[in-house]
Order: sequence, then C-alpha cells, then structure tokens
Amino acid sequence: MKTKKCRCCGGIELIIILDYGMVALADSFLYEEEIASEQKFPLNLCICTNCFHVQIDEIINPKILFENYVWETGISKSIFEFANRLYEKTKELMIKEESKILEIASNDGTVLSIFKKNGCKILGVEPAKNIALDANKKGIPTIDEFFNYETAKRIAKDYGKWDVCIARNVIAHVSDLHGLVQGIQTILDKDGFAVIEFPHLQKMYSDLQYDQVFHEHVGYHSLHSIMFLFGLYNMEVFDVEELEVHGGSLRVYVKHAESKREIKYDVVKIMISEVNSGIFSINNWTSYANRCETHKNTLRGMIEKCKNDGENIIIYGASGKGQSLIQMSGITKDLISGVVDKSKMKQGKLTPGSHIKIYPTEYIYRSKANVILLCAWNIAKEIVSQEKRFVELGGKFLLPFPEPHFFKK
Ligand SMILES: [Zn+2]
Repeated sequence: MKTKKCRCCGGIELIIILDYGMVALADSFLYEEEIASEQKFPLNLCICTNCFHVQIDEIINPKILFENYVWETGISKSIFEFANRLYEKTKELMIKEESKILEIASNDGTVLSIFKKNGCKILGVEPAKNIALDANKKGIPTIDEFFNYETAKRIAKDYGKWDVCIARNVIAHVSDLHGLVQGIQTILDKDGFAVIEFPHLQKMYSDLQYDQVFHEHVGYHSLHSIMFLFGLYNMEVFDVEELEVHGGSLRVYVKHAESKREIKYDVVKIMISEVNSGIFSINNWTSYANRCETHKNTLRGMIEKCKNDGENIIIYGASGKGQSLIQMSGITKDLISGVVDKSKMKQGKLTPGSHIKIYPTEYIYRSKANVILLCAWNIAKEIVSQEKRFVELGGKFLLPFPEPHFFKK
C-alpha cells in the first residue's frame, strides 16, 4: 500500500526520485529454508512538491519492520563512546540534580546505561520485544511498545513528565511523524528538552548515499522538516550539532516554545547551508538519480573486475544500508563469497534479497579474502584498525562512498 499524502505536510503530490523495484526488507535476515517464502515490497524514494520532504511512498506495517529488529547498539565501540559524549552535552543543559531521562527506541539500553550510572532516573521505550526483554534483564527498565501519542499519554500518567527525551535515529523510521512529535510534546516537562538525531538529508544528497534508502527508513529529514513538524506542536529547535554517525547526522535540541532557552546561531547556519545545498529543488533530485545510476554501475564494475582477476571478495557489515547497497547495485552472490558481521543474531543467516551467508569476522582469514567491500563504511576507521592483519596480508578495503575507491592510509 502506498501513502497518498506527504507524511510531513499532508501535501498530495509525491514525485518519484528513485525506483528500486521490488526489494526485500533490509533487516529480514533469513535461513536457507526461508528463501521460498521471502517477501519483497516496492521501494521508491519520493519528494513532496509542497514541502520537499523526501520519503518512501510504501506503507509497511511497523510490526513487520521492527518487532524483531536485530540491531543492538552495544555492539559498536564507537556508539558507546558516542553515548558518553551525548551524556556530557546533555549534562550541560540539565537543570536538576537527578534528571529524568526517557529514550525512545532505546534498543539494548547502551545509551540509558550511561545516564543510569550517573544517577539519572531512566526509562526506555523499545518496540522490538526480543531486545526490550534483554534490556530489562540488564537492569534498564524498558517498555516494549511503539512510541506514539497514545503511549506518551500513558507514560505521562504513570511516570509523570520527563526532563530529557532522547530519540536517536528514530524519526527517520517513523511513518506517523505527527504521533511521534505530539508524543514528545506530551511527555516533556515545561523546561525539558528533546534530543533528536537523524541522518542528514543534505549529506545523503551531497555524498550520494543512496544506500540509506530502505523500507525501514521512511523519511529523510532536514533541519527544515524537523522545525516544521515541531513548530506545528508549539515547540522549537534551539540548538543543532553535526555528527559523523551514519555518514553525517544532525543532533537537534528541541524545547517548548514558551521555555526560555537561547536559540543558538548554529540553527540559522545549518538552515542557510541546507537552502544553498540544493536539496529543496525537484530538478536537483532528478540529476541525483542519474548520479546514483552511474555510481552503482561503477561499484559493480569494480567488483566484477576483482572477481575476473581471481580475487576473493567478501563484504564487511550486514547492516540495513549494506543490504540496501547490495540489492540496489546488483551485487550478486556469485561475486561475493560471504558477509562478515559481529552480530551473533545475524551470523549463520543469509542476507535479505541477495542470500549471501553471514559469518563471524574470523571468516576474513579463514576464507583467505583479498578484497573487503566495506558496507559499514560509516565506521570504516574502526574496522580498518581492528583488521590490520588483513591489510598486512595484502588485503584491500573497497569503500563505496562518495566514489567507490580502495582505502589508502
Ligand atoms: Zn510535504
């Protein structure tokens, strides 16, 4: 089923930028015997002609998408360090000794555990029941539900209002944007603030990150779209930071309009930068689509050349965007001998759509790989430093973005 209206402004004209055809869900890793029943859904990247919000037009039941979500935040070391930095910044803005922190889509509780260690009262809301259960076992109180206006009203009634509401990489996954934003407005204390993180549309545009496009990523946000949405509920952005995570993200701080926090100049600076980048133009997105096509062909051509030269190619990173890149660029399992990933939940399974087997990272050496396509390119430095031995043995890392290239120190 497709949405008839823009999820942001309700505009009724959505133009297709990229048509990926029928694609398997990027997080639905499967076993050999499940291949026959694998589901595929249409995937189109669209833009609203009224507000320029970029989104996919397919509506998929969030229960299919997220209830067995397999990404655990604790796995990546850089995410742990990142959570510590978030705590430090949040502390600067806090007003009370024992602040109350609520995290939406709290995953395995990595971020909240840092706030807990520092004496904060915490609560997680996480729709993936398997992950919420693990978080509770680890002592991170977690409600296993989708966060929306209804859930927010119940939380406010049962636990009161919250000083800080964290939503990292959530808004990009949410179809009911208004339910999320109104929910945040409902649970936030009058002097509290929300921290919202999302991959920045401007980076996806400038760095050609079409691998960010998959069904789980419903919306591709700019500072403008966030300001518009929160503005509708009498809230405003007062600070913004640019982050390296997910290939370039924004961390936006939002408050109730009546709360007297100073609005930082960075907000204006990024607004201007977005306007100048060209992301609010339909024509620019048409040429973006052409650039993506060239990029996909170049990447596949490089891999085919390696294969023809007798090299053994594997992929590092069974992330959502990795699956998206593999499926979209037509990299097939006859070109790739395996995928390695640290997540035990993925090992032993096959990648969605392309059906390449996933192994632990030791497989790099066991398979005598010569080339690693780094689908987890956003944590390239971390991976390259962990797998120095691979390079010492003469192996090469192939990075897909901004242009496909072999990694040089
Ligand atoms: Zn719109």
